[in-house]
Amino acid sequence: MAAIPKTANEDRRADEAAGDELTRLAERHLVQPWPVSGSIGAEARGRIEAGEGIYVTDAAGRRLIDGPAGMWCVNAGHRNRQLADVMAAQAMELSYNSPWYTTNAPSAVLSARLAEHAPDGIDHVFYTTGGSSAVETALRFMQFANNVKGRPEKKLIVSRQGGYHGSTYLSASLNGRPRDHDWMDSAADLVVKLSCPDPFRRPEGMSVEAFCDFLVEEFRAVIEERGAEHIGAFIAEPVMASGGVIVPPAGYLKRMHALCRANDILFIADEVVTAFGRLGHVFASQDVFGIDPDMITFAKGVTSGYFPLGGVMIAGRLFEELRRSNHSEAMFAHGLTYSSHPVGCAVALKNLDILEDGLLDHARAITDHFQASLKALEDLPLVGEVRGLGLMACVECVADRVSKNPLTLDLEVGKRIDRHCQELGLLVRPLINMCVMSPPLTITSAQIDDMAAILRKGIELTMDDLA
Ligand code: PLP
Repeated sequence: MAAIPKTANEDRRADEAAGDELTRLAERHLVQPWPVSGSIGAEARGRIEAGEGIYVTDAAGRRLIDGPAGMWCVNAGHRNRQLADVMAAQAMELSYNSPWYTTNAPSAVLSARLAEHAPDGIDHVFYTTGGSSAVETALRFMQFANNVKGRPEKKLIVSRQGGYHGSTYLSASLNGRPRDHDWMDSAADLVVKLSCPDPFRRPEGMSVEAFCDFLVEEFRAVIEERGAEHIGAFIAEPVMASGGVIVPPAGYLKRMHALCRANDILFIADEVVTAFGRLGHVFASQDVFGIDPDMITFAKGVTSGYFPLGGVMIAGRLFEELRRSNHSEAMFAHGLTYSSHPVGCAVALKNLDILEDGLLDHARAITDHFQASLKALEDLPLVGEVRGLGLMACVECVADRVSKNPLTLDLEVGKRIDRHCQELGLLVRPLINMCVMSPPLTITSAQIDDMAAILRKGIELTMDDLA
């Protein structure tokens, strides 16, 4: 075996000579996220070497459009000098302080600026290291608050089929995709799952309006059956991301929110994907959907993926209730070493500047072209539906366009499209029979045209494979 390189970069040339030694090291020693047991701990995945704007370069030197912006996160694009510089400067100024004893300037300023963008009354932030820990924090806060308020039985969490909220134990327990639970344990007794609000997969013969009524009535029935006194929170991604960019029927979120308010159930908007410009606004809950949740979880785009940071925005009135309680000694025993990390918060502040200084406007201006370019793929026989909102979209492939019958999983249509597209210069995020596109918000009209043209070709080649 060749000598282990000291750094990932030092050995680029030697690496080429040795025939991709880095990939072999990863294969031998790295455990990748979401592995399958047949290759766990011994898996070769393609290596990305560099990024610039909407492009990444792979180990073979090929330049690819980063269709999913990493994992819905590289909103300001790759190799942004301002973000890199602020990260280095903050690390030299103050690389870390203990949030247990002290605070720091970047987290204080960021909190105030996020509060300005959040719906009225949502004026506090608890910082975490990413989305799962943000969701976990929101849920543990709900549990804590109900304990302090003397109603320890009000703890059930209502989530939805198709949703994704994270990979820690409690956040993962909310997930609604079958593969999230096939081989994994969960706190199932704490969770009730409602139907996925997917208009494309609504019952045959039902109008979208009637489908919306059905979804709301389903929630109402759960509240009646389990009792509002047992339900602590409802959590929803405003647009379900990993579930396949599910845009709920018009009015759905407002009506679910109204049911929560009427029954003293906290509404947690999981905006880990939809915030920071993906839907053209810093937060989408109020600006896009007209709702003011009690808590908003965020991560990913808050630093455009340059630093692992997440958080929960929390309505100030929830703290007032605790301050008025009889238990001033009760501690919310929850904190992370990296809560309020100064480097992460400094990067987030610069990222917010970039969004406010034109990137949000650009994202809003380019949305129609993005959606229309992908929608045009619906003329391909393999495509059942193209749907989306803002700069997130999903191409869902079907076996039959009339019956909407799903393709069998063994065909791996999403993966096939991704493989073809990679050959042609585009990274796609495959989800079983779907392909999700959520490029960096910096994408231009011409680049959208390139992306849509490659995706079309990738789908056509996949149709040839299946013929
Ligand atoms: N919530 C949503 C809506 C997500 O899409 C994700 C990740 O994709 C998470 C939570 C978990 O975030 P993280 O992977 O940063 O823990």
